[in-house]
Amino acid sequence: MLHEKLQPVFDDVLHRNPGESEFHQATYEVLESLGPVVAKRPDYVDAQILSRIVEPERQIIFRVPWVDDSSRVQINRGFRVQFNSALGPFKGGVRFHPSVYLGIVKFLGFEQIFKNSLTGLPIGGGKGGSDFDPKGRSDGEIMRFCQSFMTELSRHIGQYTDVPAGDVGVGGRELGYMFGQWKRLTNNYESGVLTGKGLTWGGSQVRKEATGYGTVYFLDEVLKARGESFEGKKVVVSGSGNVAIYAIEKVNQLGGTVIAASDSAGYVVDEDGIDLELLKDIKEVRRSRISEYVDRRAGASYASNGTTIWSVPCDIAVPCATQNELGEDDAVTLIRNGCTLIGEGANMPVTQAALRVLAESEITFAPGKAVNAGGVATSALEMQQNASRDSWTFEHTDARLNEIMRGIHSRCAETAEEYGRPGDYVTGANIAGFNRVADAMLALGVI
Ligand code: GLU
Repeated sequence: MLHEKLQPVFDDVLHRNPGESEFHQATYEVLESLGPVVAKRPDYVDAQILSRIVEPERQIIFRVPWVDDSSRVQINRGFRVQFNSALGPFKGGVRFHPSVYLGIVKFLGFEQIFKNSLTGLPIGGGKGGSDFDPKGRSDGEIMRFCQSFMTELSRHIGQYTDVPAGDVGVGGRELGYMFGQWKRLTNNYESGVLTGKGLTWGGSQVRKEATGYGTVYFLDEVLKARGESFEGKKVVVSGSGNVAIYAIEKVNQLGGTVIAASDSAGYVVDEDGIDLELLKDIKEVRRSRISEYVDRRAGASYASNGTTIWSVPCDIAVPCATQNELGEDDAVTLIRNGCTLIGEGANMPVTQAALRVLAESEITFAPGKAVNAGGVATSALEMQQNASRDSWTFEHTDARLNEIMRGIHSRCAETAEEYGRPGDYVTGANIAGFNRVADAMLALGVI
């Protein structure tokens, strides 16, 4: 149930954005938390902050033509949604995946506003992407696609305007091709226009690891608040991309054991603990399927269908694959198996129905916009280094990331407490993230 002042805002979202179910889901989840804020702050209502915040400042949709290895012309669709720039330049990644359409980009861009706000750093929210499927494409095809994508995107971005980065399907290789094309088009070595860059061309230490490490730093704070730690805990991490790999690495460093990981085709269980070097070789070097893991590691087992990874009993579940990957039945199974903490490494991996089940249980649920904010926070640190033409050590950057994640945790916990919902990280994250943006929007007038 939404507050009476918020229901019309949501009705409008449904009406103006037909068919965009992920965007509806993301807005509902935020609006659901904001009832107490609206009751307390009539000035937000008078200034129509809610109706303005759900409407992107600008949405760009463009054609991305490119030529494949068989000399065939291919056409994809590109997107950049510049959602909110009250706190700083639009900031958020670019996703290449066949599922990408406007509704996905808008849900991600909307989440990004609050996530970026929670970091306490001066970054607005935006997101982009394409329905291009990188799977099975050669390096040359990836390069030509990225160049074509950037040819159009370059008109809309800049270090003070909009700063894209990576997301699903977009890592160092793709960002390299995009930055190269940007540099060539503009004759400008403007490092701060993109983040997630390689270390030899303006990138930051720890950026690659940041989302995964930050996720585990946040969950470590949750555990500490309960008087616990990762020591001896069994952890299931879904996915095997950038977020999952570095979440696994950090769990291992903090004394936990990750016993399962997945890709879109299936999952592996390894009770001795996932062999991270092997997983990195399969996923980062060979860009292959996770099923290879069992051929190279005795005692591990593989099951096809990655979404059933939640049937593996664990203390902590960390969905790091994609949106809506953990449903109602999975939530029931996790509760039955004694799981006590779920932290979203991916963006919105837990469905609305699953959230309702979890809310009735003893499980602590930590939402993505707080948990996985370490990636974008470290992007902001990369922008800071680019602006000062400096580059920091791994240790310094990692310490900054850790400090930022601890800050996000306390901001969420204190806000939840202040609004009478102690331990409710969803309420804490949504309200703390929203208030900072709303105050900036009020100050900037009706724009
Ligand atoms: N795509 C990442 C996210 O979902 C990182 C964005 C960035 O670094 O700008 O937050």
